[in-house]
Amino acid sequence: MPQLIDGKKIAAEIKDELKEKVSKLKEEGIHICLAVIQVGDDPASSIYVNNKKKACAYIGIESLAYELPEETTQEELVSLVQKLNGDAKVNGILVQLPLPDHIDADAIIRTISPDKDVDGFHPESVGRLCIGAEGFVSCTPAGVIQLLKRSGIGIAGKECVVIGRSNIVGKPMSILLLRENGTVTITHSRTEDLKKVTGRADILVVAIGRPKFVTKDFVKAGAVVIDVGMHRNADNKLCGDVDFEDVKDKVSAITPVPGGVGPMTIAMLMYNCVRAAMK
Ligand code: NAP
Repeated sequence: MPQLIDGKKIAAEIKDELKEKVSKLKEEGIHICLAVIQVGDDPASSIYVNNKKKACAYIGIESLAYELPEETTQEELVSLVQKLNGDAKVNGILVQLPLPDHIDADAIIRTISPDKDVDGFHPESVGRLCIGAEGFVSCTPAGVIQLLKRSGIGIAGKECVVIGRSNIVGKPMSILLLRENGTVTITHSRTEDLKKVTGRADILVVAIGRPKFVTKDFVKAGAVVIDVGMHRNADNKLCGDVDFEDVKDKVSAITPVPGGVGPMTIAMLMYNCVRAAMK
């Protein structure tokens, strides 16, 4: 049996550390506040937003919820974000994605002040990440690094292969692994002979968005496999981008779905909120 990388446990550890930090900050008169904006009532988004509010309440962070109707205009949303940028009481601003089609999500992300960009999606945050400067890091990839470190898995010098090059997972993931001195390869839908490339990986991070895509023939014996994917099957059960049952006997460590990367995203969002307040 491989080492099971327990994201639920590690996320709980991080949240408890933050809870302690937030209580100390409160004693110093520093209160932390996160504004969460949701446009429309997409059920999946509502679940994510609720989980974020619950995590804030657990840690001692105030959350301000803005639940806007589907027909909210771009201008109205921009103006709310600008108002929150200027509100000294608000430390972090999160706009839940996806937004309705009539709203330009990139423009909204660019409107968020880089000092309050707790999702780490603003081009300034991404630029800072690329040049190794201080800044907010996208929560899911930051969570993957914590999973590896807190499970005692070294990254320096390792062959790291990332499947996927999205702006929110694949690209920042690759930069973070590079920052940890991994030797990094990014793969995508145009990669020739994907199995040959992934078969080199000591650490394989999968963010492809296809249920159970990665089977044992993609994986080197003894590799560490991190599954970022999240899908619900017909029975409403969660599964990842990796075929866990097929791969598990070949690898040295693996994240389950659920209970792997998923819980880390919110933990790292909370981490970013605390950092925002300490700036
Ligand atoms: P995405 O934007 O759809 O990106 C998928 C990436 O996979 C793209 O770069 C695409 O390449 C690549 N790809 C698609 N088919 C491929 C193939 N046959 N071979 C090689 N590469 C292929 O997805 P995402 O937003 O990064 O999310 C990826 C997964 O992570 C999803 O399952 C999502 O639900 C999950 N996710 C989980 C969390 C969490 O908190 N756990 C957070 C975010 C996302 P091209 O660029 O060439 O199209």
